[in-house]
Amino acid sequence: MSNTEKWALITGASRGIGRAVALELARAHGLHIVVNYASNEAAARATADELAALGVKAHLAPFDVRDPQAVAAGIEGWRAAHPGARIEVLVNNAGVTRDNLMVFMKPEDWSTVIDIHLNGFFNVTSALLQGIVRQRSGRIINIVSLSGAKGVAGQANYSAAKAGVIGATRSLAQELAKRSITVNAVAPGFIESDMTKELPVDQLKALVPMGRFGTPEEVAGVVSFLASPAAAYITGEVIHVNGGLHS
Ligand code: NAP
Repeated sequence: MSNTEKWALITGASRGIGRAVALELARAHGLHIVVNYASNEAAARATADELAALGVKAHLAPFDVRDPQAVAAGIEGWRAAHPGARIEVLVNNAGVTRDNLMVFMKPEDWSTVIDIHLNGFFNVTSALLQGIVRQRSGRIINIVSLSGAKGVAGQANYSAAKAGVIGATRSLAQELAKRSITVNAVAPGFIESDMTKELPVDQLKALVPMGRFGTPEEVAGVVSFLASPAAAYITGEVIHVNGGLHS
């Protein structure tokens, strides 16, 4: 009998926004989840336990999105464990920041951020693309940032990487539209997570019209909508989730 399981692969699903997206896609759509992460196995296992409690399967896939061979091996490991299952939703979420004014930015801080966000998007998406194209259904959702849409001082590396992913989102959306596969981006503003915990929160909250940071769950709700049948005709879009913090 053929395997009809539908899975979502979420990069950086051990913590923060990725974890919230994993739980919401499981809860709202009953999707089984490939939990990718870089190194925090304890957090990834905790996410997997929460997914199991929701009644879906979780497959831990530690790989560095920067490394195409590691990505291929991670996906192959999932395929071998779940032959015939399909990836219905891909969420490119893994990310880091290495903020500094460009005048002080080290070359490795530029390349690490470009590598993880932009090359990571390419490595993971291209590894899954043939299968998604063949099945003629699927959703690709890229977590970008307000920083990539408007630019933020101290984030030339991150703004460039996220702007690059926005451009790729729009191109790939056009390439896949005929097959009813959608490609969209979600652009959070300030969201409570490990990524933002060292920031001067009170100072930054004052800049947000809603006067607070968003929650990972508020981002996950939009990703879940984009993964739903209701969003079938939306593609190539960037949806902002930022409490009114526009440019
Ligand atoms: P986070 O809490 O710091 O979590 C980052 C996640 O990415 C972790 O699961 C981490 O895995 C994983 N990761 C990092 N480098 C990786 C790599 N090379 N390969 C595979 N996985 C990797 O961050 P977050 O705030 O949830 O951010 C998630 C996404 O939202 C990022 O793309 C970020 O740029 C974007 N975003 C965040 C905010 C915000 O305010 N928080 C705003 C706009 C956009 P480990 O646990 O193993 O380290």
